[in-house]
Parts: sequence; C-alpha cells; structure tokens
Amino acid sequence: MTAIFERIAIVGAGLIGGSIALAARASGAASVICLYDANAAVRQRARELGLGDVFDDAEAAVQRADLVVLAVPVGAMGAAAAACARGLKFGAVVTDVGSVKQAVVEAVAGVLPSHIYFVPGHPLAGTEHSGPDAGFATLFHNRWQILTPLTDERAEYAAAVDKLEQFWRALGANVERMDAERHDVVLAVTSHLPHLIAFNIVAMAEDLESVTESEVVKYSASGFRDFTRIAASDPTMWRDVFLNNKDAVLEVLGRFSEDLAALQRAIRWSEGDALYALFERARRMRREVIEAGQDTPAPNFGRDEPS
Ligand code: NAP
Repeated sequence: MTAIFERIAIVGAGLIGGSIALAARASGAASVICLYDANAAVRQRARELGLGDVFDDAEAAVQRADLVVLAVPVGAMGAAAAACARGLKFGAVVTDVGSVKQAVVEAVAGVLPSHIYFVPGHPLAGTEHSGPDAGFATLFHNRWQILTPLTDERAEYAAAVDKLEQFWRALGANVERMDAERHDVVLAVTSHLPHLIAFNIVAMAEDLESVTESEVVKYSASGFRDFTRIAASDPTMWRDVFLNNKDAVLEVLGRFSEDLAALQRAIRWSEGDALYALFERARRMRREVIEAGQDTPAPNFGRDEPS
C-alpha cells in the first residue's frame, strides 16, 4: 500500500500508541514511525519492541511528521500537545485517541499553532491491559474509529479529516464522524457507566462482610468474573475519563440509579412480570450486539470451547 502519511509521530507509547505503531507498520499506512513517551522505561521498552524510531524529546519526535497522534491519558493531553507544539511541521495533521472528546478539545486546541489541522478522534478498541507490551497490530480491525472534527471552514481542514479517515481505514477500522458532545453522551452510556459499575461491584465485593473474599474469587464464574475483566482497566486512564466527562456521566448515572431503585422495588414487591419484561428487553439488546458483529455468539464468549 502507498503510505497515507509518509511520516507519523506518536506521543504516548502505551497500549493504543503502540498498537497504532504496529498497525501502521503492518498495513503500510505510514513509512516512517516516530514515538515519544514521557516515561523513560516505556521509551526503552518501545525500542526493544521495535515500535519505531523512539525519541527522548517530544519536540524532536514530531519534527517533519505529517501526522501526530496524541495517545496519552485524557488528563495529560494538554501537556503532551504543549510539549510538541513548537516542533510541529507547517500543515501537519494532529489527532488524539482520548476516550473523552469535549475536554480534550478544550485542553488541546488552544495550545496548538494555527498552521496545523487538529482532528480529534477516539478508537473504540482496547483491552484491560496497558503499556507498550499490550499493543498489537490488529487491535483496530473491524472496530469503530470516531472522528469529531472541529468547526473549521478551511478546505485544507476538510482534506485533513478525509486523509485521517483513510489512515484509520487502512488500520482496519470503520470510521464514523460525530459531534464531540454527542460522542461524550454516547460513550458515557456504552463505556463509561459500565466501567463505573464494574469498578463499584468489584470494590463492593471486596468490602462485604457477609461473604469472604476467597468465596467471591472461588465462585466468580457465576457472573462476577466478567466484571473483574472490565474493572482491571488502567486506573489513571479511568480516573481521567470520569474527571473529564462529568456532565454526561452524572446524567446517565442519575437515570441508572432511578431505574435501579425501580428494580429494587419490583423485587421487594415480587413484581415478576416487571422483572421478566426488563430482562427480556436486555436479552434482545445482546442479540443486536452480536448481529452488529460487536461480540461472539459463542456461549460464555467461547471460553468453554476446546482449543
Ligand atoms: P497507556 O497504555 O497507559 O499509555 C499511555 C502512555 O502515555 C504511558 O506510557 C504514559 O506514561 C504516557 N504519558 C503520560 N503522560 C504523557 C505525556 N505528557 N507525554 C508523553 N507521554 C505521556 O494508556 P492507553 O491505554 O494507551 O491510553 C491512551 C489513551 O487512549 C487515553 O487517552 C485513553 O483514554 C485512550 N483510549 C484507551 C483505550 C483502552 O482501552 N485502553 C481505548 C480507546 C482509547 P506513564 O505510564 O508514565 O504515565
């Protein structure tokens, strides 16, 4: 494949940054891949893994890059953008992969020079692991990449958005464009709240006096186990998500708490029909997720199949 961006620079060489480097190399979407990470141990590991040309300085890493990807935790986006701002090439495309969009736009847009094109983005792909060793080239295959372009009337800006879309498609992703505000609400429902619930259930089980921790671990396959995978996600990343998407998360959390109270009441008053109706709706949603190719229909996620 002809490279979409000749030279790219990735700031933050963890799970997502490392995966972008591997996917760009494997697909040929970029010819030269440069990386920088604020953590010296991560830079060392990125060199050992051969992720690309690893620099000890953010400004040097982004020099001459046609595309710069900010792949650091949401709370560090502003600082990461500021650290590389002076090295950015005239006309470069800058994007990010943050799980929250409005707060990142606020933190980054003002820091970048006006001669570049900033196109915020978020790959809906990841795992509960972090760091450069967790990265893999196929992470974005058949996953959604959401772009939330700014209001920018320049023809060059529209061209930059198109080119970034091509880049993500080359990495195997399906691309959709969305308003940043809409993104933050949708993700609050589909990702942020489920993570919050998982963190809470796992922490609560640890604190329970009536059930011992060893019992919870031993019998975890009854449902708890699947929450532990989600709750194993990186604490820094998730702290930043909740601190930066407060409004949308609090809005859906309010609705969730109300509905949970209704369920509590249905159980107390033995309202079996109400419980049944809700569970049936939930089951339908699972079928739709599978039909949309977002998960496997194999029972128990295929864990019980002989390998
Ligand atoms: P990660 O594996 O922890 O990697 C982030 C890296 O950025 C770390 O090595 C970190 O160093 C480094 N870093 C922190 N501040 C920096 C700075 N100012 N300049 C340069 N490097 C800096 O995290 P990740 O999972 O790849 O997540 C990165 C971004 O992707 C986050 O914004 C997250 O919201 C988003 N995202 C994550 C997922 C997911 O499932 N993980 C999915 C989609 C999007 P330290 O370790 O020293 O802090």
